[in-house]
Amino acid sequence: MTEFSLIERYCQGIGVTHSSTRLGVGDDAAILRVPDGMELVVSVDSMVEGVHFFPEVDAAKLASKLAAVNLSDMAAMGAEPKWATLALCLPQLDDDWLSGFSAALDTISKRYGLQLIGGDTTQGPLTLTMQIMGLVEAGTALCRDSAKPGDDVYVSQSLGDAALALAALQGKVVLPDADLAQVLRRLETPTPQVELGLALRGLASSCIDISDGLVAELGHVARGSNVAIEIDLEGVPLSSSYRTYLDNGGSYILALTGGDDYQLLFTAPQEKRAEINQVGKHLNLALSKIGQVNELDSHSDKPIDAVMLRYKDKAFELQDNSGYQHFQTKQQLDAE
Ligand code: ADP
Ligand code: MG
Repeated sequence: MTEFSLIERYCQGIGVTHSSTRLGVGDDAAILRVPDGMELVVSVDSMVEGVHFFPEVDAAKLASKLAAVNLSDMAAMGAEPKWATLALCLPQLDDDWLSGFSAALDTISKRYGLQLIGGDTTQGPLTLTMQIMGLVEAGTALCRDSAKPGDDVYVSQSLGDAALALAALQGKVVLPDADLAQVLRRLETPTPQVELGLALRGLASSCIDISDGLVAELGHVARGSNVAIEIDLEGVPLSSSYRTYLDNGGSYILALTGGDDYQLLFTAPQEKRAEINQVGKHLNLALSKIGQVNELDSHSDKPIDAVMLRYKDKAFELQDNSGYQHFQTKQQLDAE
């Protein structure tokens, strides 16, 4: 198989066809029309074997995850996904691998209205890069720099399952079979919250997707918006698998700092509570209020933490001064 027949067979006709695509796969570059009054939203994410996934993960799961992490960036901006380009660096031309990858990419692209319009194919260590492009009405994109004191802080669905799955794969925790299967699905085929992102336009004051862990993303919003954020640990939504893990001596750390959740973290003025509730009902998606946005008191002589975590009205410290992370079990926290 040559590179050209590979492209023809596995990279052409993937996803939907948009009328605003003047030219897709086949020429030196694609040509796209951005409709009047719309803005183009662009992002790129790579996945490297051995860094972002284990060598044995199958091609279909990799395609779904690559698309999902990119779609999640569109969701976080409140943008409608439209186009993608794909850079494949492959160790060898493997028909089975490529057909699995291509079919899964087609499925998820059709589900979210994405069209593959180009890419690049090279030989080397397995690395998958997707660039995604979406559209948003000018001025309505959801950014991370506009949370306001008094706003509520929300998170979608539940956190920590992907990190729990990774810990299980690394042999750090042992889970019952049914829970392991459940959290593995969350790690390998995360669901991008595209519909939620679109529904939050005009409601959320800021939004970000949780790829690097809740606490890190809260820090991005707090710093970007120049505010302080206070979180109630007991409000952080957890799956039944994660709760079982907690009951068996697990800690909150994975849910707070583990990555790969791809849920949306957003803020909204309190007067939008009823509307946010409606959005959750309409999408059949849990939207949990986990805290609030406060003033960053720059006049105080004591520096205050931009992100503060509470557990039952006590401060929850993630680390001590030496940087040691506290892996207290829920039972130890309750006993304190
Ligand atoms: P060029 O040498 O002009 O960069 P290529 O041979 O790399 O052209 O690609 C030929 C066409 O196939 C281009 O339109 C390119 O966008 C497309 N293409 C190449 N690899 C991929 C891929 N992995 N996925 C989608 N399209 C691809
Ligand atoms: Mg090329």
